[in-house]
Amino acid sequence: MLLNIKAVKRSGQIAFDQTLDLPRVARDVIDIAAISPVHVVGMATYTSPLLTIEGVVEARITYVCSRCLTNFEQDLSTHLLQSYTTDPQQVDEEIPCLTEDELDVSENIEEAIFLALDERPLCRTDCKGLCADCGTNLNEHTCGCDTRPIDPRLAALKDLLSSEQSE
Ligand SMILES: [Zn+2]
Ligand SMILES: [Zn+2]
Repeated sequence: MLLNIKAVKRSGQIAFDQTLDLPRVARDVIDIAAISPVHVVGMATYTSPLLTIEGVVEARITYVCSRCLTNFEQDLSTHLLQSYTTDPQQVDEEIPCLTEDELDVSENIEEAIFLALDERPLCRTDCKGLCADCGTNLNEHTCGCDTRPIDPRLAALKDLLSSEQSE
């Protein structure tokens, strides 16, 4: 998304409302299968020497459930806030220098999305996941495997008990 800096400087404030494709988010994040076009609404404000971009970013994310690997969709809404300066003296890590007449804020929008993503997406809070033995999706079917988690400290005891039982 390109902002015309000259126009923002001239009028002091310019509103934007755009829908853009940002496919990198789905490419770079393993838990994301797809991302809808991203809707960005906000305002670019210039108060010398600072140019501030503020807005709301919305998209629909197709996540891959971290437990059962099923795809599911979820709305994402996050805040976009980034400042730039025209004064080279003021530049720091948070506030880059504004040098061009046009500013591409796509990367800022992508970063806002990256920060808002669910790090451990779950198709539902009580997702039962996949059976570690046979791979069955336990939300859909039950399998015959004994999938009760075994505390390794108790596993030795369990072996002992079962060998006693079989004697
Ligand atoms: Zn799941
Ligand atoms: Zn199983």
